[in-house]
Amino acid sequence: MAKIKLEYIWLDGYTPLANLRSKTKIIDGDPAKLKLADLPAWGFDGSSTQQAEGKSSDIILKPVALYPDVTRKNAFLVMNETYLHTGEAHPSNSRATIADDANTWFGFEQEYFFWQDGAPLGFPEGGYPSPQGPYYTGVGYKNVGPIARKLVEEHIDLCIAAGINIEGINAEVAKGQWEFQIFGKGSKTAADQMWVARYLLSRLCEPYGIDVEWQCKPVRAPFNQPLDWNGSGMHTNFSTKFLREKGGKEYFEKLMAAFNKYRDEHIAVYGPDNHLRLTGLHETQSIDKFTYGLSDRGASVRMPVNFIKDGYKGYLEDRRPNSAADPYLVAGRIIKTIQTVKV
Ligand code: ADP
Ligand code: MN
Ligand code: MN
Ligand code: MN
Repeated sequence: MAKIKLEYIWLDGYTPLANLRSKTKIIDGDPAKLKLADLPAWGFDGSSTQQAEGKSSDIILKPVALYPDVTRKNAFLVMNETYLHTGEAHPSNSRATIADDANTWFGFEQEYFFWQDGAPLGFPEGGYPSPQGPYYTGVGYKNVGPIARKLVEEHIDLCIAAGINIEGINAEVAKGQWEFQIFGKGSKTAADQMWVARYLLSRLCEPYGIDVEWQCKPVRAPFNQPLDWNGSGMHTNFSTKFLREKGGKEYFEKLMAAFNKYRDEHIAVYGPDNHLRLTGLHETQSIDKFTYGLSDRGASVRMPVNFIKDGYKGYLEDRRPNSAADPYLVAGRIIKTIQTVKV
């Protein structure tokens, strides 16, 4: 028997942007044998997280995914759903209600800014660094600064050790902006991993006095001056069994017609303030249009370069979800729209 540390993680009730919350539970057990089914339900004070009134404040945490945490001895990260006493899912529990399908695969490209003292990491005090250009996939102190690479590399190792399918990282177009990619099968598996990867990054930055800024357009123009700094997306790549194995132009066009039909329903869950980011500039399509194109980074949905050559087969990239979107809702909506199309 050992003392096992379980970090119970959940999403709070803040809108439009839920925050990650967590607290530690210590149990006795054998860390080598711990399984999700062994984990007890737990609770918290929902009146402190905008999830309950003070007079009936207990919200129940129900473990749904388990990951090793190598930063602490005998420790695990536990992703949870939130429930009311009545047994109903809490209204903020997006995971409980979404469509899922293990044959629909997702690859999320999470962009974000490192943020320090009210500005992106590496911005000079009170001003702007030299314009965008050299930062994307850049190398060297003047492009990435002294500390960002250390953080992103530690983040990769933490994700790998947790069994999270991180697929890569890169420095992004704006100074202080980075990206990591997470791949998973099914809306819940993929999105659980994304939320825990977000958690690991935010926690990792704490001792450096750095925050992770998830908002989609944190660098804005003062006094309506034009300002050429990218926003942050969470491009969502997806494929169904049918798209991977059969595909074809006819099916693809039907699928895109459904995406066009449900454009508003998609945009509604693609993250707050997306009108600030989906402007038609900075590799985006404007928020009120739906377009698709081969290799087109100005389209709503991009077909990867070989998609048509391969017979309209493979995966597609929905470029509209933003960095602050809830990946449960994004993936769930994509599956729901796919399910409206007959193969
Ligand atoms: P880019 O920056 O060129 O848009 P990335 O390499 O950053 O592309 O991201 C590509 C994403 O596509 C990755 O998240 C990867 O997991 C995902 N992906 C690749 N193949 C599939 C597939 N068959 N189904 C779903 N996602 C996929
Ligand atoms: Mn990318
Ligand atoms: Mn990117
Ligand atoms: Mn992309």
